[in-house]
Amino acid sequence: MRVVLETQAVTKTYQGGSGLINAVDAVALSVHEGEFVALVGPSGSGKTTMLAMLAALLKPTAGAILIDGQDLSTMSEAQRTAFRREKIGFTFQANNLVPFLTALENVELMLRLNGKLDKASQARARDLLARLGLGDRLHNLPRQLSGGQQQRVAIARALIHNPQVVLADEPTASLDTERAFQAVETFAALIHEQRRAGIMVTHDLRMVPYADTVIQMLDGKVSSVLTSRADIAALAGTGRGDRPPTRDITSEARPVNPLRTPELAAALNVV
Ligand code: ADP
Ligand code: MG
Repeated sequence: MRVVLETQAVTKTYQGGSGLINAVDAVALSVHEGEFVALVGPSGSGKTTMLAMLAALLKPTAGAILIDGQDLSTMSEAQRTAFRREKIGFTFQANNLVPFLTALENVELMLRLNGKLDKASQARARDLLARLGLGDRLHNLPRQLSGGQQQRVAIARALIHNPQVVLADEPTASLDTERAFQAVETFAALIHEQRRAGIMVTHDLRMVPYADTVIQMLDGKVSSVLTSRADIAALAGTGRGDRPPTRDITSEARPVNPLRTPELAAALNVV
């Protein structure tokens, strides 16, 4: 599989109270097309700093970050901004939606920033939201939506411009357990179906079984990389090799995840 994102000895050094701190210390990692990576580790281990550098929001002190073969560290500020808008999608906690824009406008914002807001892309935004179960919520403001619905809007916004790399920072922090599982399942399904490179920072180890790879950080370094289902399950404490069953264990009344429909997969692949 093609490597979409690669870091080479990427390092970020901050001036702390008692000297220099290597918040991220010579990290090498690679993420393939269609691979969903969970980035975990204790507070202060460098996860946010790492994600900010991958998002081209923060410049490394040393090392290289290559996305689609292009080295972010050699770009000017303006080039990085343009690159970020086109190639990178983000989801943050639900409250990162623009509060005075509707669900549809929040998704269209990404297209507008890229100068790609036209009739066809607007239709695609509506379609994506509808298939995420928000067809009757297009014109609601974020505060008129539940936490889970807001998270789905954020997922749509991160993916609407077909970015190569999709980054999520604690996307489940504001959700209850069931909605958290649904949001991550949805996110993982989209990464796989659309063949993106996805990285999710989370402190909630119950979410890691949805990932293909789990990268653990400690003191700015990668302390382990898990790829076997058994190792990932052990980390999650589920004691099983499967991804967590979010539907199987409950009644049939639960709505079917709209992402499982072939129509969605087809819709998402239309540029
Ligand atoms: P995490 O997201 O895993 O909690 P961070 O990336 O936020 O970790 O922080 C990693 C380390 O870098 C911590 O020791 C933190 O205190 C330090 N750090 C983060 N941002 C700054 C900054 N702007 N200035 C100085 N130190 C920072
Ligand atoms: Mg953090």
